[in-house]
Amino acid sequence: MKYLSTRGEAAARSFDDIVLEGLAPDGGLYLPEDYPRLDRAQLQAWRALDYADLAFEVLRPYLAPADDAALRALVRATYTAQTFGSDDIVRIKPLDASISLLGVSEGPTLAFKDMALQLLGRLFEHALASGERELNIVGATSGDTGSAAEYAMRGRRGIRVFMLSPFGRMSAFQTAQMFSLDDPNIHNLAVQGVFDTCQDMVKEVSADLEFKRRHSIGTINSINWARVVAQVVYYVAGYLRAVDRVGDPLDVTVPSGNFGNILAAHVARRMGLPLRRLVLATNENNVLDEFFRSGVYRPRTAEQTQQTSSPSMDISKASNFERYVFDMLGGDASRTRALFVDELQREGRFDLSADPAFARMRDEIVSGSSDHARRLSTIGEAWQRNRVLIDPHTADGVAVARTHVEPGVPMLVVETAQPAKFADTIREATGQEPARPQAMRDLESRPQHFVVLPPDVDALKSYIAAHC
Ligand SMILES: *Cc1c(COP(=O)(O)O)cnc(C)c1O
Repeated sequence: MKYLSTRGEAAARSFDDIVLEGLAPDGGLYLPEDYPRLDRAQLQAWRALDYADLAFEVLRPYLAPADDAALRALVRATYTAQTFGSDDIVRIKPLDASISLLGVSEGPTLAFKDMALQLLGRLFEHALASGERELNIVGATSGDTGSAAEYAMRGRRGIRVFMLSPFGRMSAFQTAQMFSLDDPNIHNLAVQGVFDTCQDMVKEVSADLEFKRRHSIGTINSINWARVVAQVVYYVAGYLRAVDRVGDPLDVTVPSGNFGNILAAHVARRMGLPLRRLVLATNENNVLDEFFRSGVYRPRTAEQTQQTSSPSMDISKASNFERYVFDMLGGDASRTRALFVDELQREGRFDLSADPAFARMRDEIVSGSSDHARRLSTIGEAWQRNRVLIDPHTADGVAVARTHVEPGVPMLVVETAQPAKFADTIREATGQEPARPQAMRDLESRPQHFVVLPPDVDALKSYIAAHC
């Protein structure tokens, strides 16, 4: 399989070339040259597979030419009941007569990001070991990504993580989840600033090519293709478990931020998985809902981005969206570049409303947004009527899904996090204290390991240089 950049100026690369990389050298994102096709007979046969074997089958063409035995061992080591709480790995959980949840948040940090990052940790370790290389991952987090990355990379050979977070601004649970790790290869850097300060510092380090090369710096953001493809697996598993017969229609709602999760659903659909419609749900930060309603994509500034009670969806622009637009424009790289570079820079927006591609997009994806009041009432209702506790992000999904349910077509809402992670909002909505897994009961009382850094990129660089 060869990978191309959405901006068309980078040479085609292999999976091994791109797995440790973020952006392509031309500033675009990598996508496969074409998609492997699934047919009904194959899907039917896959119904008998457990999750790890299914992951092997789905991933194999994307990683080709990969060593089959090594890949099989990697997925088997990744998708275990010990890490994901049950042999099923992902589960269909009925909510009411028309909606079920796709449970993909039972991993070590209680959010769906574990599904991809746990695999990525092993893929990185494997890729590095074959070349006896090292990787120093520098990232910024406001909560979920950082913890999922640290739990995926802890103790891995040849890998160090330097994770920047805004000092004192994450929830007590998120802080404890990250800072309680004491693995020598994990460095928690609490920056005296806000999330954007952290992100700017990471960008500055990445822009210093000399420093980057000398210290083998890599990133772990949501634009990594391996993360997207690892997420394709749970859409295939979810479909096979949710329908009576292969070929039956299924609608899926995805609580969205950077467009990574729903991009995986789109890829699954492009491969031939019989998903009927995708429903994109946003919170008050409705950049993507606005696009799918109007055809206008208008990223926000940091000041225009609200802090909400579904914080992992508080985005100003959707970093994976360029892949989707490129794909729906039939792989037209010069058009994609004109939109994402020229027009966004010049106008701060682009408008596809008159383009035939936009009509095709709307056949596939519909959207809606939720807000704090609806989030609370949706969580409250699910508890009162169905005795199910859902987290605030999933609640945004359920709220939007309700307006798109059609008779005769089952609706799956992706459960992107566990309620235990966002106890304050759950208490506000239901008066209930969400149950925590046994192993996390004493999380906040464990010793915390972190270093406070000033908002200064030189301080960050000296810290990295001294610790790798
Ligand atoms: C990351 C995250 C999202 C958003 O997912 P994207 O892939 O960025 O669209 C939604 N919910 C939760 C709980 C998350 O952690």
